[in-house]
Amino acid sequence: AGFDQMGLKDELLRGIYSYGFEKPSAIQQRAVMPIIQGRDVIAQAQSGTGKTSMIALTVCQRVDTSSKEVQALILSPTRELASQTEKVILTIGEYISIQAHACVGGKSVGEDIRKLEHGVQVVSGTPGRVCDMIKRRSLRTRAIKLLILDESDEMLSRGFKDQIYDVYRHLPPDLQVVLISATLPHEILEITSKFMTDPVRILV
Ligand code: AMP
Repeated sequence: AGFDQMGLKDELLRGIYSYGFEKPSAIQQRAVMPIIQGRDVIAQAQSGTGKTSMIALTVCQRVDTSSKEVQALILSPTRELASQTEKVILTIGEYISIQAHACVGGKSVGEDIRKLEHGVQVVSGTPGRVCDMIKRRSLRTRAIKLLILDESDEMLSRGFKDQIYDVYRHLPPDLQVVLISATLPHEILEITSKFMTDPVRILV
């Protein structure tokens, strides 16, 4: 199936084609539909498989760009990955005028606060800074309906476990969770059993 058979918003489809994509990659083929239908998804996938673009396009499809509330939150292990994901979202989502912000350590907290106050629909960040922004009440969580945990095994090996649980505790109860990981060790399965309901499992 092609991108045009996924029921995506026309202006989002335009963004995907302008970005130069013609056909969905394997992970995009298998993960996009369940995610946009609202299912919890566990995807075992490495980088370079098209997972960042998969995140970008599902997030773009799921958020209401007429609202200024944060509706999707993506957690990544590094500042670089969180910023890269924000960039791909802004590029693919150009024609739906999506507003996204990267909340990462090492950048000015004041700038984060300004951006979040102005209103964004998507936050892509590292667990530490996101946790901090939630505790300062600069990042409002009540409209968040989608949490994506990218490179989850890498986040755990960098010691972000407590912060991930901390963030999760601040999110609304009927949350959709998508977990991406190259490997699925015990601690990841613990997260999936605590955070997820009847997840679709995808191995690429
Ligand atoms: P990612 O894993 O999303 O970072 O993607 C790895 C590389 O493949 C990036 O350069 C993407 O721009 C590219 N890519 C991802 N999805 C597609 C696609 N459906 N068609 C062509 N290139 C893609």
